[in-house]
Amino acid sequence: MLAIVLRVESILDRRSSDLSPAYTYFTWIGSLPELPEVETMRRGVLPVVGSRIVKAERPPCRLRPILFEPAIRTFDRRVRDQQIVNIGRRGKRVMIHLKNMDVIVIEPRMTGLVLLADPPGPEHLRLRLALRGGPSDQLLFWDRRGLGTVRLLSAEELQTKVDAKLGPDALEISHQELRQKLCQSRREIKVALLDQAAVAGIGNLYAAEILFLAGIDPRTRCDGLTGPQWQRIQRAIQAVLLEAIEHEGSTLSDGTYRNALNDEGGYQNYHRVYDRAEQSCFRCKKGRIRRIVQAQRSTFFCPKCQQRSGLHHLVQSV
Ligand SMILES: [Zn+2]
Repeated sequence: MLAIVLRVESILDRRSSDLSPAYTYFTWIGSLPELPEVETMRRGVLPVVGSRIVKAERPPCRLRPILFEPAIRTFDRRVRDQQIVNIGRRGKRVMIHLKNMDVIVIEPRMTGLVLLADPPGPEHLRLRLALRGGPSDQLLFWDRRGLGTVRLLSAEELQTKVDAKLGPDALEISHQELRQKLCQSRREIKVALLDQAAVAGIGNLYAAEILFLAGIDPRTRCDGLTGPQWQRIQRAIQAVLLEAIEHEGSTLSDGTYRNALNDEGGYQNYHRVYDRAEQSCFRCKKGRIRRIVQAQRSTFFCPKCQQRSGLHHLVQSV
């Protein structure tokens, strides 16, 4: 059973001042969803491939409006009667590909959910696509905090506004590419792994889990990592993300993240270091998990299993 703990963070991000006082003071320590949660959402809505969009609506929402472009009238006109031909993912975005080559790009950010089932509550519904010809008559985007974005892009815009800004997907990047993109950087590896222009899809939670599995201290500077260490990091990226996808992502104590059917993920029960400060390490049993702050975000690691010297071994399981 997970303890329900609300943690105080001094600064969440630049937008903290826009949030309600309750959220600025008490917040959770991650920034889900990351790649596994978004991939789970994608897989969950995949059955509507082949459906046609009857109309697009922005239900009235009295809270902070999300970034939505173009305006709903234009959006609706462009998507109406279009067939959904594929649903993909790019980093932490769900991409709904239409027959006319336009793409609806949904970025859930902190609390956004892409759903076929009814949302967790009637408020905060940000987009409803009415559908026909498939297993569901709707596809929804729900976002409590309103930091998510919905954009309808042409194939050309997709290239300049999304593809050009993102590195290779975390599940596809090779260790050579990862090394080549980051080995000159003076940043600490944990901070660099969050850089979506280098590698797309990793966020705060999974970066900590990845570096634990790779046996690498999160404070190690990128330009000090060896070839075998880059290889271990890339293998750990694959292992952690695939394992998390298998468990349909992590639902933290705030309960926000749900899959496309509004059910919880299960990977929170398998976290090795994340949010386990002061608890003993599953692997070595001797170290106590430490929490430090890097670039204003919490990092969790085991000082015994994750050292800066070169003598590490890939942790296969704990
Ligand atoms: Zn340990």
